[in-house]
Amino acid sequence: FNVPAPVNEPVKAYAPNSPERLELLKAIKELKQMQRDIPMYIGGKEVRTGNTQNITPPHDHQHLLGQFHEGDASHVTQAIDAALAARANWADMPWEHRASIFLKAAELLAGPYRARINAATMLGQSKNAYQAEIDAACELIDFFRFNVHFMQEIYTQQPVSSPGMWNRLEHRPLEGFVFALTPFNFTSIAANLPASVAMMGNVVVWKPAYTQIYSAQVLMELFKEAGVPDGVINLIYVDGPVAGDVIFSHPDFAGIHFTGSTGVFQQIWKTIGQNITTYKSYPRIVGETGGKDFILAHHSAHPRQVATAITRGAFEYQGQKCSAASRAYIPSNIWDEVKGYLQEDLKSFKMGDVEDFSNFINAVISETSFDKLARYIDAAKQDETVDIIAGGNYDKSKGYFIEPTIIVTKNPQYVTMCDELFGPVITLYVYDSQEFEKTLDLVDGTSPYALTGAIFSQDRYAIDLASKRLVHAAGNFYINDKPTGAVVGQQPFGGARASGTNDKAGSILNLLRWVSPRAIKETF
Ligand code: GLU
Repeated sequence: FNVPAPVNEPVKAYAPNSPERLELLKAIKELKQMQRDIPMYIGGKEVRTGNTQNITPPHDHQHLLGQFHEGDASHVTQAIDAALAARANWADMPWEHRASIFLKAAELLAGPYRARINAATMLGQSKNAYQAEIDAACELIDFFRFNVHFMQEIYTQQPVSSPGMWNRLEHRPLEGFVFALTPFNFTSIAANLPASVAMMGNVVVWKPAYTQIYSAQVLMELFKEAGVPDGVINLIYVDGPVAGDVIFSHPDFAGIHFTGSTGVFQQIWKTIGQNITTYKSYPRIVGETGGKDFILAHHSAHPRQVATAITRGAFEYQGQKCSAASRAYIPSNIWDEVKGYLQEDLKSFKMGDVEDFSNFINAVISETSFDKLARYIDAAKQDETVDIIAGGNYDKSKGYFIEPTIIVTKNPQYVTMCDELFGPVITLYVYDSQEFEKTLDLVDGTSPYALTGAIFSQDRYAIDLASKRLVHAAGNFYINDKPTGAVVGQQPFGGARASGTNDKAGSILNLLRWVSPRAIKETF
């Protein structure tokens, strides 16, 4: 076998009047006029409960995009039954056929689905065109293409045999169904969590974040058109604890593929532990959770580079990437220069809706998120030990808009240096340039998370020291680059400590979690 060599999908620029921009604007307009009625999908059937909830864009909460039909515990059971009914045929299908389906999904996404998935992501999740393009189009296409390549590696790698015997490995799917619990912040992750599991011959119950349902439906249509058979991926909208009660007490529960908050993941892990004797097999628990990602500058760093890493790393997609920089350590010798660049950059950032392509900042995902961020900003305003050097304003009258905000603190343990805020707020600590080593301990010890981090320096000894001392502080470690924007096949993504099980999205490691190999020895 020789699957097509994977290459990263080129990112389109959406320049004014470019064909891709015109097509995208058309797709946005069409979606906005539609008021979609969004069903669940169980066993290939559309399920409407009549218990509907409205979907509105976070940047324009009075505009109705449509509604989705919420389910209850009975729909969770139906989804599990549909998955288990589809299991035998799907698990039996030769892997090349499964691979073909996902290669086709990549082509559909690169072509006819591109504008629609980007438009749905822009409207439903308040991403600007560029952020949607690198997520819903490029990253997802890459996930499909690279994962197919990893599939081939897995299925074709076989143990050695000697005369008189033949040893083989059969990479069986898991015995049961897998639960995919997916986040709002990346459409690509929402799709890849169920898809990577399904590729390996498993069946899935998929529950997206309620704030991502608008684009999840487009993904479901894509899966269907690509040829994913009915029942292999079942999409349900059910309250988390209600779904959890049914899923985690089911004997055929075989694993969870999760991206979301640390608290929820830890609770799920405990529940699985409590129910462990219920299951046929030990469930696979794979999760990417929170982050408190850092930028550390050394006194040899270029101030312009550091400032750009902060503004892009902290504020793209309103800081709602797990990888977003949210604490930075700046040496005193370059601080004035860095501060000047930061304030200049932020003045040039425009904030507003997604249809004006010059807006760099859009809205945060929900009112809950807005209120939480506003509380932290208010507390910082009242605290005499911190300064807000940029931003600090917010307004939810039309959409959930929070200005990109930079807090400077003299206390390296200040609450916003430690808590995960998940929004466009970064806190900076200015350290004595001579205290680099001490600062390394602060970076390592301040947060329980270890997802991404970046070191800026022109001094190789400093880079080497930071790499060693921060060896467990980040699963994705960047040298002289911002800590966001991992590319599939180039920087496999994931963190350890409280940030997850580090089973690297977009790598062979991740796919290996979804098979249960049988070693076969035959003698002659
Ligand atoms: N892979 C994304 C990045 O490197 C972040 C994924 C996430 O937010 O979960 O920016």
